[in-house]
Amino acid sequence: MPEGLTVVQHPVLDDRLAVLRDASTPHGAFRQALSEASAILAVESTRDLPTVARTIDTPLEPAPGRRLEAEITIVPVLRAGLGMVDGFLRLLAGARVGHLGMQRDEDTLEPTGYYERLPPGMGEAYVFLLDPMLATGGSAVAALDMLTKAGARHLRLVCIVAAPEGVAAVEAAYPSVPIFTPVVDKELNAQKFIVPGLGDFGDRLFGTI
Ligand code: URA
Repeated sequence: MPEGLTVVQHPVLDDRLAVLRDASTPHGAFRQALSEASAILAVESTRDLPTVARTIDTPLEPAPGRRLEAEITIVPVLRAGLGMVDGFLRLLAGARVGHLGMQRDEDTLEPTGYYERLPPGMGEAYVFLLDPMLATGGSAVAALDMLTKAGARHLRLVCIVAAPEGVAAVEAAYPSVPIFTPVVDKELNAQKFIVPGLGDFGDRLFGTI
């Protein structure tokens, strides 16, 4: 399993990221670009999954083939991560889907989980945490804590935009969890938004601005 950070490079992904960043992109087009970007990230982040040799009966004669039989679970962080589910399921139709809700504790300002619904078999599954904006890394680390507590061992984190601070936080807390992202941006601003980033991901995805 690849460790550390993979900055996924693909011309189609570059194009979809440009659409996502563009402030004039309406939410419908944002969703479409996100779905396509997520599918490319699904391809790249599953590159090392095991396959099993199987003989396939074609209409003419048996052919050697390989099937992806590993248990796969994708876990979007609510609510922004929901926008990445469709792109992943296009490639991994048999994946299970768990959900994690994270919110900032008003007193400690630490992200805490308010909702957790995970499928069985977390210990054996390849678990893909979908958290599009890796800003401070607080919610990603808290989500990884929840997944680890639930028994997950084969974890990876998939983002749409990362900040150096977020990458560092995840690498410090979970050095063995690979991170996949199309880009690592410059920095965080005072409001902890990624700069240049793309704004509030959830609002842009769901049209709540
Ligand atoms: N969450 C967002 O939606 N945008 C950011 O830039 C950072 C966190």
